[in-house]
Amino acid sequence: MAPHPGHPGSRVGAGSCDVRYIGRHPRRNLSVPLREETSDCRGRLATLREKRAELERSRDEALSQIGREEEFRRSGRAPLAGDLPEDLVRLYERSREQTGLGAALLRAGRCGACRLDLNASELNRVKAAPADEVIRCEECGSIMVRTEESGL
Ligand SMILES: [Zn+2]
Repeated sequence: MAPHPGHPGSRVGAGSCDVRYIGRHPRRNLSVPLREETSDCRGRLATLREKRAELERSRDEALSQIGREEEFRRSGRAPLAGDLPEDLVRLYERSREQTGLGAALLRAGRCGACRLDLNASELNRVKAAPADEVIRCEECGSIMVRTEESGL
């Protein structure tokens, strides 16, 4: 019995035109270059999965390190904050949440948090303020800590 043209594995054509019918199981009859390309893709996929797993381990390790550093800073800050007035600590925490930096040095007339120079009227306001007054940057809202390097 001759193979039916629609039967998987049957041959269409004869002689120089020897084309295999693909039928229901296309993977069985893939051409050699296509099989090699598929194999290459599987290899690259495996490599990329290994790379992704490596990057995920690296990310998890970095997040763990950040968590440990944050805990270290938090535990180191608590005793210091205990010596400060409660309202100042609250202001610092609020400023830190809003700006990322609760306080920064005022150095050479420049806010250490936003790195902007204070204009003449702001500098005069800071100069005129009592030493124990909490000064905040008008630009970023951070507490500006005055020192001898403040340029006042
Ligand atoms: Zn600022």
